[in-house]
Amino acid sequence: MGGSALFETYNRAPLRFERGEGVWLYTESGERYLDFAAGIAVNSLGHSHPHLVETLKTQAEKLWHVSNLYEVPEQTRLAERLTDATFADKVFFANSGAEALECAIKTARRYHYAKGNPERYRIITFEGAFHGRTLATIAAGGQPKYLEGFGPKVQGFDQVPFGDLEALEKAITEETAAILIEPVQGEGGIRPIEADMLARLRGFCEKHGLLLIYDEVQCGIGRTGKLFAYQWSGVAPDIMAIAKGIGGGFPMAACLASDEAASGIVPGVHGTTFGGNPLAMAVGNAVLDVVLEEGFLDEVKRKSLLLKQSLASVVDEFPEVFESVRGSGLMLGLKCRMPNGEVNLAFRRHNFLAVPAGDNVVRLLPPLNVTDEEIRIAVEAIRDAASDLALPARKAGSAA
Ligand SMILES: *Cc1c(COP(=O)(O)O)cnc(C)c1O
Repeated sequence: MGGSALFETYNRAPLRFERGEGVWLYTESGERYLDFAAGIAVNSLGHSHPHLVETLKTQAEKLWHVSNLYEVPEQTRLAERLTDATFADKVFFANSGAEALECAIKTARRYHYAKGNPERYRIITFEGAFHGRTLATIAAGGQPKYLEGFGPKVQGFDQVPFGDLEALEKAITEETAAILIEPVQGEGGIRPIEADMLARLRGFCEKHGLLLIYDEVQCGIGRTGKLFAYQWSGVAPDIMAIAKGIGGGFPMAACLASDEAASGIVPGVHGTTFGGNPLAMAVGNAVLDVVLEEGFLDEVKRKSLLLKQSLASVVDEFPEVFESVRGSGLMLGLKCRMPNGEVNLAFRRHNFLAVPAGDNVVRLLPPLNVTDEEIRIAVEAIRDAASDLALPARKAGSAA
């Protein structure tokens, strides 16, 4: 420690990548890694996708930034494409997931304020949630390790055990404004919320006049095989935060809302300097060009099945290492029997990149355009790594 000029926020892997191409990353020394981390579900179309590169270059030569004092045509176009494809009528563009969540939280509170109920500001979340690292979003996520040492927790967040609907209904009071959940928990360990549970949450919202907020920062933009994960259930929210995959690697995010839910937001009450700038909007539109192409999401579903079935057989083969495979689309988790950090490290030794998550899970979040051949190589690397990890245990077993 102390050798770097950077904040010591990360224990970084000793890897330096110089360039990327599709699902592959190349180090300075020319070694290649198969990237199933994809910048934590950000590089939705892999590295250096020709359409994204071309779009960014073309836009860079025209206009970078003007602020939201003026109309930004690409912003309007992206908003229309997102509203056409979802429950939403309105979109606010931001730069990061946490910012999109801040907008979602503010929109929900303003809704009740504008209806004459300023006391309704509290938001209920599930344990294991992750909504970002701003002061409000660490309060929403409720994880002690992220809250510790940062002063009083931002007021107005109530947390209930994951999936405990009884506790959730009990937590609703006259001050409750909304329920905020990830349809598939990402950092929490690839934990999906079943369709019937979403329907019951929707029911609570109708009954008690609450807004339903989805955090699809990680599970959105085709990750689960539908454009948005909630579309598997047909249970629409009132507000939704998205980020990560929509920019394909360019920082951008958005908060989507119905007209009704956004009714408290009027000129001057919320804003951003960088959000919705022409560079980000051009790239966001380019990502949608590909993801919304006829058949693209069907391919994600097909490849998901291929990967999941192959993983299931590796899980069966190495019960010392893995307990199960879960998740949907190309958002899969390997629940480990060994510490997930060790498993992830063993993957890396086989030039395979994944991401640890909560609940002792290793996440596989490949670019959505991963090929069958790359899936085969990935499964081979996982099998080889598992074999390395299982070997000492098996030797000890046979000696006994
Ligand atoms: C990553 C993530 C966030 C935070 O996004 P940032 O861009 O890091 O602020 C919020 N919610 C979910 C579900 C995420 O996965």
